[in-house]
Amino acid sequence: METTKTNTPRERKLKGKVVIDIQKCKGCELCRTACKEDALILSESLNNKGYRYIIANNDLCTGCVNCALVCPDAVITVYRTGGKKKKIEITPGELKEGKNIISSIIAELK
Ligand code: SF4
Ligand code: SF4
Repeated sequence: METTKTNTPRERKLKGKVVIDIQKCKGCELCRTACKEDALILSESLNNKGYRYIIANNDLCTGCVNCALVCPDAVITVYRTGGKKKKIEITPGELKEGKNIISSIIAELK
């Protein structure tokens, strides 16, 4: 069966917002290669230095920061959004029963 890769946003726990200083980008595409979500594309237009620059589709970004880590000119900033902390409840009854609290917390966080 043939499969086709799409850029449809998936339901994600963590999301990211990428901000790129496009005037400092030299279009080397290292960040684009590092992005597993295909969230980065090269522009058609040129920046002040005459380079095509990177544009982010933040709808696809997971906030993994790979792009920022590989950028040799450090022109990418990633802000993470979402990923709300879960409220974990341990009842007094569970405490009395001596349940393994750490296991409960880990299970809730998964
Ligand atoms: S933070 Fe991760 S998912 Fe978002 S654009 Fe960068 S490499 Fe892609
Ligand atoms: S790695 Fe940095 S300089 Fe290279 S294309 Fe991406 S943002 Fe631009």
